[in-house]
Amino acid sequence: MNKTHRPVRQFASDNYSGICPEALDYLLEANSGDAPAYGNDQWTQRTADRFRELFETDCEVFFVFNGTAANSLSLAALCQSYHSVICHETAHIETDECGGPEFASNGSKLLLAKGEHGKLDPSDVERLITRRSDIHYPKPKVISVTQATELGTVYALDDLRDLRELARQYGLKMHMDGARFANAVATLDQTPAQMTWQAGIDVLCLGGTKNGMAVGEAILFFDQELATDFAWRCKQAGQLASKMRFIAAPWLGMLETGAWLHNARHANNMAAYLEQRLQGAVGLQPMFPRQANSVFLELPQPVIQTLQAKGWQFYTFIGVGGVRLMCSWNTPQEAIDQLVSDLQQALTSAPGC
Ligand SMILES: *Cc1c(COP(=O)(O)O)cnc(C)c1O
Repeated sequence: MNKTHRPVRQFASDNYSGICPEALDYLLEANSGDAPAYGNDQWTQRTADRFRELFETDCEVFFVFNGTAANSLSLAALCQSYHSVICHETAHIETDECGGPEFASNGSKLLLAKGEHGKLDPSDVERLITRRSDIHYPKPKVISVTQATELGTVYALDDLRDLRELARQYGLKMHMDGARFANAVATLDQTPAQMTWQAGIDVLCLGGTKNGMAVGEAILFFDQELATDFAWRCKQAGQLASKMRFIAAPWLGMLETGAWLHNARHANNMAAYLEQRLQGAVGLQPMFPRQANSVFLELPQPVIQTLQAKGWQFYTFIGVGGVRLMCSWNTPQEAIDQLVSDLQQALTSAPGC
């Protein structure tokens, strides 16, 4: 079996990882016999109920195939086409969704705010909200936060409180891109409820893929009215899975076994270990505070090339540049030791370093 399989040496992304055992077990279990289609099955019902338990509220739950769809469709549900969404300039919805949010909303514009370490600066958000109020400016309607952020930091509850105050004051909704929400929960040690609806979040796009599933993100509407007709929006966009139980059941596996949090803790711990090894053995400081499962580094180009020649895969174009080293639910400690050792070697042999 698996004759062609060669291990990939990678810190590229948590979506390079395979399916975790818990998700896979439930997937196989859901494959015994037939079940009603389009989410009218027991798995989907049970999973939605389990989300309501975990988040301690009666939210509306939907499943889509990926994060781009989750963000684009949920933002479209919060906006009219003449509205705008305020997000960080490094936000995934701006940099990595190919205009999906604008497309799904028939043109709602993204307004880009600044802020240190990938987090929205409330004063810059307020500047964008109050800059204009005339009919020629796309009316601000949503503040979108990414938790954990694209730069591997997290919004503390205090950070969210300031943004929520702005949203309340100016009548905006709050959207959370939680592709790595579990990693933020693992860091903050707050409940999912405290970090979302109790902090003013109206809709959460909750990532399953990077957390250890094969496919499938959940969208949780804490303000149920915002979910009116949302199922039709998903269907029209080609995001209604007819065999929905195969997205729902793995999610149930993640929730019932606690794998969602366990996986995130492992990823965060590995990133912490990587950071510590880099600081200790190599004397390198990360570009941003490491608060989730990634470490960003500035490395000389020859060093990057040496690592790549040794087969290491990582991204260099995320956020503001630099090398992004992303850990996952299955990152082995030995891979980190190997990378650090290769990095040490590359640094000492690189000319001018
Ligand atoms: C990965 C990711 C997504 C979802 O991306 P898809 O490839 O569409 O599933 C959304 N937001 C953030 C911050 C991400 O890192």
